[in-house]
Amino acid sequence: MRYIEPHGHMVSRTTDDYQAMVTAGCAAVCEPAFWAGFDRKNKHGFYDYFLQLTEYEPRRAAKYHLPHFSWLCINPKESEDPGLADDVLSLIPDLLQKPNVLGIGEIGLNKNSRNELLILEKHIQLAADHDQLILVHTPHLEDKLKGTKLILDALKNHSSLQPGRVIIDHVEEHTAPLVLDSGFWAGITLYPESKATPNRAIDMIELYGHERIWLNSACDWGHSDPLAVPKTALQMRHRGYSADFIDRLLYRNPLGFLSQNPRFRTAD
Ligand SMILES: [Zn+2]
Repeated sequence: MRYIEPHGHMVSRTTDDYQAMVTAGCAAVCEPAFWAGFDRKNKHGFYDYFLQLTEYEPRRAAKYHLPHFSWLCINPKESEDPGLADDVLSLIPDLLQKPNVLGIGEIGLNKNSRNELLILEKHIQLAADHDQLILVHTPHLEDKLKGTKLILDALKNHSSLQPGRVIIDHVEEHTAPLVLDSGFWAGITLYPESKATPNRAIDMIELYGHERIWLNSACDWGHSDPLAVPKTALQMRHRGYSADFIDRLLYRNPLGFLSQNPRFRTAD
């Protein structure tokens, strides 16, 4: 089989994980900027992280013949300090020139606070100004439904923004219809415990269809599984899905969204 891992925090993983993913059929991995497990003190900490995402990590993946791409932003968890957020935002336009950058992400909300919303709107403006794709993180600790509605309103306020160029990730049963009905793409995140298990994800596909949906493992420094996507494919085979349907959901769907940036390519 072949698949794309459209959302994996590979800075948190060992090279053994790269080897296992490629062995399982991974044809490309995309890495959004996120919270590192601690708050960075100043913009220099973010600059070093952005270089890790755009220079070091692609080289590490290339050792396994795996194309690696990244998304840039200051994550919502560290957006509570608007001064720091503005400093970090000022770094991004130059870095958008790096050859593996696909867009702005993962932006969004964590606690649905006023400052998070302010910085979310600045990111959306930055993406609009530079004609970038957007990847959005929806909250999972606080109120996901309220946070998703706030995010959708902020996106819809930008009339120039095309919904088909935005993916809203970490959707669940109560938020997927809102996202899809508005014309956006939806991401389902596969976690061993929180977010969606493989079986819940397949149930959602059966409820809401498979158009404009991708599956990802988000594999980060917490309890997560970098092989969650191919393991879901096996679960789908158990349920009787064809190899062609699985290829469409796990490979051709993310390929369709990501190829809106001409830099994107897969290993095959
Ligand atoms: Zn993430």
